[in-house]
Amino acid sequence: MKISTKEFRVRDGGKINLKNLPTKVKPFYQSADDYQKLLAAHIQEMSERQELLYADNRYSLLLIFQAMDAAGKDGAIKHVMSGVNPQGCQVFSFKHPSAGELAHDFLWRTTRDLPERGRIGIFNRSYYEEVLVVKVHPEILKGQGLPAELVEDKNFWEKRYRSITNLEKHLHRNGTRVIKFFLHLSKEEQRRRFLKRLDDPARNWKFSQFDLVERGFWKEYRRAYEECLTATSTEESPWFVVPADDKLNARLIISQVVCEALKDLKMEYPKSDPKRLLELKRLRRQLVKQGG
Ligand code: ATP
Ligand code: MG
Repeated sequence: MKISTKEFRVRDGGKINLKNLPTKVKPFYQSADDYQKLLAAHIQEMSERQELLYADNRYSLLLIFQAMDAAGKDGAIKHVMSGVNPQGCQVFSFKHPSAGELAHDFLWRTTRDLPERGRIGIFNRSYYEEVLVVKVHPEILKGQGLPAELVEDKNFWEKRYRSITNLEKHLHRNGTRVIKFFLHLSKEEQRRRFLKRLDDPARNWKFSQFDLVERGFWKEYRRAYEECLTATSTEESPWFVVPADDKLNARLIISQVVCEALKDLKMEYPKSDPKRLLELKRLRRQLVKQGG
């Protein structure tokens, strides 16, 4: 079944209400085997296009993953990018900022890790945390050392959104495509996954007591995500709200979006000019003469 990715794309200017968006849709695969086949086909296409991205060396792709805990960011990144040449792809995870990072503006630490030309960069959490966890927990903002008159500005969050969209527009104008995924998980499915992590000794390490604390702020996070997606989904850097209760389905949707994003880039393998072709012929003759 062909996945229509625009179904999951947040329209520029559209107001988002997450309650109206599904955390589960009819599977795009028929069986576990079928899933493997479909994912493999996406990965094959992605891998070929990624090689072209690298050879063309003009564009880069930044994939941003945001979600509540246990929504499957790590698994999606691992499975979707599994066929991509590791030399052309880098993953960065952003946790609580260090004191050194907090001494800079909020876009600084992620900017250092933006993908170079020809590469795919993946952010597992990102500068978006600055309008999500920081908005849900105002005490974090207080600890950021910003001038009081800036923090007290009633348009503070609007201005943060604008800083983000301006950055993304700037990146777009310079050859970096930014695609953002919100893995949309239901509260009940999160509960199930947390229980699995608590019950299975091999998964215990994945559970942190803070996960339960943050779960207590579910509504606040939902609101922060809605405001964020509404304010920052643009034509050039869209958000995709990916139903995440079914991990396999989510991976198929994400991999298709990535394939399409790469397909949209006008890339070509570098061509040799006639002078270079002559030079290559001369070098070839030289190499043949050296034979046996
Ligand atoms: P996992 O799936 O393993 O739980 P994770 O991405 O949740 O992965 P954690 O180490 O559990 O990783 O948590 C990282 C924490 O860092 C998150 O709670 C996130 O909200 C927080 N964080 C990330 N960026 C910022 C930021 N700029 N300011 C404050 N907190 C941040
Ligand atoms: Mg976590």
